[in-house]
Amino acid sequence: MSDDGRRPPPGLEDIRLHDTRRRRLVPLEPLVPGHVGIYTCGPTVYAPQTLGNMRSQLYPDLLRRVLRAAGLDVLHVVNITDVGHLTDDASAGDDKMEEAARRTGQSAAEIAAHWTQQWLTDRRRLACCEPDVLPRAADHIPEQIALVRTLEAKGHTYVIDDGVYFDVATFDRYAEFAGLDLDELEATGRVENVDAKRHPADFALWKRTPPGVRRQQEWDSPWGRGFPGWHIECSAMSTRYLGTRFDIHTGGVDHIRVHHTNEVAQSESAYDVHPWVSIWLHNEFLELGSVKISKSKGHVLVVDSLVERGIEPLAFRYFFFQAHYRQQQAFSFEAVEAAGTALRRLVHHAVVAREAVGGDPTGGDPGRCDPRRRSFWSALADDLNAPRALTVVWDVIRGAELTAADRWSLLADFDRALGFGLAEATDPEAATAAGSDPRVDGLLAEREAARRTRDFTTADRIRDDLAAEGIEVVDTPAGPTWRRR
Ligand SMILES: [Zn+2]
Repeated sequence: MSDDGRRPPPGLEDIRLHDTRRRRLVPLEPLVPGHVGIYTCGPTVYAPQTLGNMRSQLYPDLLRRVLRAAGLDVLHVVNITDVGHLTDDASAGDDKMEEAARRTGQSAAEIAAHWTQQWLTDRRRLACCEPDVLPRAADHIPEQIALVRTLEAKGHTYVIDDGVYFDVATFDRYAEFAGLDLDELEATGRVENVDAKRHPADFALWKRTPPGVRRQQEWDSPWGRGFPGWHIECSAMSTRYLGTRFDIHTGGVDHIRVHHTNEVAQSESAYDVHPWVSIWLHNEFLELGSVKISKSKGHVLVVDSLVERGIEPLAFRYFFFQAHYRQQQAFSFEAVEAAGTALRRLVHHAVVAREAVGGDPTGGDPGRCDPRRRSFWSALADDLNAPRALTVVWDVIRGAELTAADRWSLLADFDRALGFGLAEATDPEAATAAGSDPRVDGLLAEREAARRTRDFTTADRIRDDLAAEGIEVVDTPAGPTWRRR
């Protein structure tokens, strides 16, 4: 049974997902039948999370909703990185939190609290479900130290002046996960070399605070005062909440070569497991092209960049569904605006159907509804194919043979994955239909006055000005009214 007590809908019996490690679609086979553990790499909370970063939250949210709809019990862990993420992602550079603290004059804790809240707010504005567990790296230092000790005891580490390093030569499968060429890395040095590292791919597990330096975030350890590496955090926190093996790990494609390769190396070495994670899902980038972003947001494209332009955040959720998560998606404000228009139409049709049946989602005719239900859910069962699922939504809205009861039964069901809040939504077209903007009403009255005096030049100019704002004047027998297009 699913989260709301209903049976799994037709089409969701066999879920297939694209596993990065095996490089193909694989069936979801939970380690514990009926339960699925998901770990999502969350934000490093030193700066705002961009809309590109939010794509890495939206598809795990869709995944989680689909699995719940399939009747699976999902435990979703999303971490907060508030220490240890170095400016170059691997072993060199400074901790991003410390650097932000120096730059802004705020404490690392204040910065982390501020950007964590902003990120949680943005997630909610995009209708992402709350994570079941939201662990912060700085709250899990003992787990990380214990994991480094295990790796040390098993001979996978070495110590140099600035810290403890993972020795990639001790893990035969290191290159496998991302299809790396280690010889080439050795020759070119994948990252800024830390002197005395044995191989350029070796990475820090624990960084020592240099002598004479006092850091805002540092802890005692068997290797001296310092702080954990970024990669060890995710291995330690995922294990703490999901066990030494779990079902699904998600993240952006930019994490494959370094961060996730290193997580696999640590975890499989420490726990003697393979595969540590059954299925790895990675999303592609949001392509910004030549998009200009307002200076007030530091030229970073965030949820507020949409709001500043009058675009509701949920339009971005609809926009996200228009491309597959494993495809690059070209961003433009115009495209998200168009997604917002489509979403308002969708909500309008859903509310009309819902109100026609008094909100009852159980009235659909199985003969007409089940094939469409199957099409929708089987699209999502096929590696979360949201664009295909959206075409089913529009078939339902347009299907002339469907009754309001059919339509609402289907849309209410689909909304468990879509997350548009259709059960509570008000009709966006009714809200802007008429009489709700005194300025527009005033212009309309002015136009009427002009028409009465046969001043059609003025009347037409007012109509054209409103049209330029996207407002359409509609003359009805009861007098003129207006609506936003
Ligand atoms: Zn991670």
